[in-house]
Amino acid sequence: MNWHACEIQAPFSSPPDGLHAGLEAEGNSFPRDSLGLAVNSEALEELKNRKSKRIWIHMGNSHIGIPVAKKHSATSASEQFQYPLDSSTLKQPGIVQQEAFRRVPDRRRTEHPRRRPLRVMKFGGTSVGDAACIGKVVEIIRAELRESKVVVVVSAMSGVTNKLVAAAKAAESGDRKIVARIFKELRAQHEAAASILIHSAAQQRRLTRLMKDIFREADGLSKGAILLRELTPRTLDAISSLGERLSAPLVAAALAERGVASKAIDATELIVTDACHGAAEPLTDLTRERCETRLCPVLQRGIVPVVTGFIGATRAGLVTTLGRNGSDYSATILGAALDAHEVVIWSDVDGVLTVDPRLVSGVSTIPEISYHEAAELAYFGAKVLHPKTLRPVIQSGTPIWIRNTFAPQGRGTKITPNARPNGGGVKALSAIGNLTLIIVGGPGFIGIPDVLGRIFKTTSAVRADVLLISQSSSQNRICLVVSSSIADRVVEGLRREFASDLAFETMEHITFDSDVAIVAAVGEKLRGISGIVGRMFGALDRHDVSILAIAQGSSECSISFLVAKNDMKKALEIIHREFKLGALACPEIAASKSYETQRRAAESAS
Ligand code: ASP
Ligand code: MG
Repeated sequence: MNWHACEIQAPFSSPPDGLHAGLEAEGNSFPRDSLGLAVNSEALEELKNRKSKRIWIHMGNSHIGIPVAKKHSATSASEQFQYPLDSSTLKQPGIVQQEAFRRVPDRRRTEHPRRRPLRVMKFGGTSVGDAACIGKVVEIIRAELRESKVVVVVSAMSGVTNKLVAAAKAAESGDRKIVARIFKELRAQHEAAASILIHSAAQQRRLTRLMKDIFREADGLSKGAILLRELTPRTLDAISSLGERLSAPLVAAALAERGVASKAIDATELIVTDACHGAAEPLTDLTRERCETRLCPVLQRGIVPVVTGFIGATRAGLVTTLGRNGSDYSATILGAALDAHEVVIWSDVDGVLTVDPRLVSGVSTIPEISYHEAAELAYFGAKVLHPKTLRPVIQSGTPIWIRNTFAPQGRGTKITPNARPNGGGVKALSAIGNLTLIIVGGPGFIGIPDVLGRIFKTTSAVRADVLLISQSSSQNRICLVVSSSIADRVVEGLRREFASDLAFETMEHITFDSDVAIVAAVGEKLRGISGIVGRMFGALDRHDVSILAIAQGSSECSISFLVAKNDMKKALEIIHREFKLGALACPEIAASKSYETQRRAAESAS
């Protein structure tokens, strides 16, 4: 991207230290970290043409909009403009002040001494699965360090968290042997990786000592559970956190081995959470403070922090976990707390795919999707992101990339607040199988008071997640779709709830079909595009796929419907073909180009 120098005469005779200023010409945001501004060609043109009604100065989290008005004047033949903004300009009516103007602590300046962007890079379990994988991770980090500052977040080595949970459960049932066997395996797995990756004797000793301490802790925790035959959520969290506490020092040591100054940091020191063990939520302000005091000085010294994903701690210091597969969430929590430029999630897929490649052949990687689309896909079963991942960055609009550790030359998928739509409107498909359709209704149903209220009271009492609801206009038939694993519970609950209402009717009113699947088509503003539904259902009809139910309009960016389980794969194939999703990949993103060239091309195109 071409940057043009563009001076804004500061409203301050001498700019306060560390002031984070940026310029935005209506919709283009270019936050920089000083008052000497750089704008790209587009923004410059826009300013020159005075199309933009105001410019924005970003000061930390606050935005102050200043009307460009007539004050905008060229000062020299060169492309330099001056916007004389003094404090009286700031007080002019018409200035939009979204938040109180505040100085940003100095760290912002010190954190980017050479204005290098800060990237949070998260590596999932398979990416750190063994020594060879960790080697790849190290190379990716080293390459990235040429252009940005990096905070690394790691998952446990693949399979480790599952084993830890199994050990915890075995401890609860008093099975010492299984517990011992699992910990022995885990120790061997980590030691094997360490012996391949680490050659320096000092590093090796340090790592061995550290692992020993962690396994001693594991032993203590499981002994407690064995003795009491009890596994509290607190103990389970303490045990399942050990995987990340083992992988982070391993990755940090591997980086050091390749000459990168690095330091493993336990997220229990950074992410402060509530006490909801197993599904803890971060306390944003405290987390931000901790990151400032713990992480920023490390970054400042040019050291790469390697942070444990998945875990945090309460204010009192008790270890918590953010929920299974929660490391993505850790990465965006830290990204938001550090005002990172981007969060990159490295896993073993090329990015967000148009559809599950196990179900349809000829899938492609989607270059860009929106937060909404990503959330919708996650909801309908595509395991792209942990469903909570986007939460921390929604306000800041931080882009998230999904990239493949095993094919780093690929561009991956960029998830942004508003991604470009693609031609046909439909961007991706997803599906959930193993569902049960429950039909509540029949002629006798009319006139029963508060049917919907009672149905939902029942589903919530049995803790059932209802994935799709549809209702006939006469209200005498209501369809619910739930996971087959809990369907019995729901049906029993409903039969109980409506027992007296239906006692005198001979007809069956609550029936179910346990072989159904939901297919969802996802795309921004899908519902607003005319003809999509017709095209989709037309194509399905031509191929004899019948639709059992259609979801009510709960989301703007998805259309979901129910088909027989046996038709799921076929339905996905038909729609994928109909909307030409296999050819989605941008032509400018040819596989031969390096990732950096591609990224720059994509950035200047957007
Ligand atoms: N290791 C944790 C899990 O397997 C967290 C993660 O991998 O994201 O659930
Ligand atoms: Mg994992």
